[in-house]
Amino acid sequence: MKKVQSKNLKNKTENYFPQRRQVMKYIYEAKNIAKRFGIHHERIEVRITENQDCILGQATMNSNKKYIWITENGLNRSDLRVTVFHEILHTLYNQKHVKGCKLMNDTTYTDTFTDQEITDIFIRYITQ
Ligand SMILES: [Zn+2]
Repeated sequence: MKKVQSKNLKNKTENYFPQRRQVMKYIYEAKNIAKRFGIHHERIEVRITENQDCILGQATMNSNKKYIWITENGLNRSDLRVTVFHEILHTLYNQKHVKGCKLMNDTTYTDTFTDQEITDIFIRYITQ
C-alpha cells in the first residue's frame, strides 16, 4: 500500500478502461524490465477502486493471489508509474516498505524523480 491507512477498498463498477490500460502499460513495462534479468512475472489482477482517504494503491502480499488495487486518486496522479511499480514489488516480491526509499517508502514523496531513477531502484529490489 502506498500512503498510510489500510482499509478495504471498494471496487469501481464504472467503466475505467482507459485508466486501467495505463496501469497495465506499467505492469507490462515492469514485466519487460524483469525479463531482462531472467525473472518471470506472474499475472497480476488489477482493480480500480473508489477513493479511500489518501490511499493511492494497495496490493496483496505473501499470497498466491496477486492483486493490485489502484484508487481513482492514484490513477489521476502524475506519479502513477511509481505507485504501480511500488505495488508490484509488494505483490510479486513481498517487498515491505523501506523508510526513505523513493519507491518503497510508505508515503509518496512530493519531490520529482525521473522514470530512469525509479527503474534503477526497481531493478535493485528485484535483483537483490
Ligand atoms: Zn506500500
